[in-house]
Amino acid sequence: MSDCLFCKIISGQIPAAIVHQDDALVGFRDISPKAPLHVLIVPRQHIATLNDLTANDDALVGSMARLAATLAKEHGYDQGGFRTVFNCNADAGQTVFHIHMHLLAGRPLNWPPG
Ligand code: 5GP
Ligand code: ZN
Repeated sequence: MSDCLFCKIISGQIPAAIVHQDDALVGFRDISPKAPLHVLIVPRQHIATLNDLTANDDALVGSMARLAATLAKEHGYDQGGFRTVFNCNADAGQTVFHIHMHLLAGRPLNWPPG
């Protein structure tokens, strides 16, 4: 989608610190990290919110979760722990309307989140 920030990062129009790329997913560091490791895992396909997922996307979302675990392990956080978060719409604070999984690690992560 032409006016989507994450589509522009995926296409290379806007720079980002890319940590992973494959046919379906891109991972890049959050510009305003909330933990020592804060990566956004995004599908190349533009999907605005979790409300827009269909059964056809089940494998895609599963691959996002598996990539989060892989990246956590690469950075040494698989045993200590890490958190994954999807924000959906206003009450959850979603600001970029292209689905993304936050991967956070490297500090104690309080529960419940704010
Ligand atoms: P949301 O609040 O929608 O779940 O998360 C959006 C995230 O995108 C935020 O954590 C924000 O810091 C991050 N973000 C916003 N603009 C940019 C950008 O231009 N580059 C990168 N790498 N991250 C961004
Ligand atoms: Zn997009």
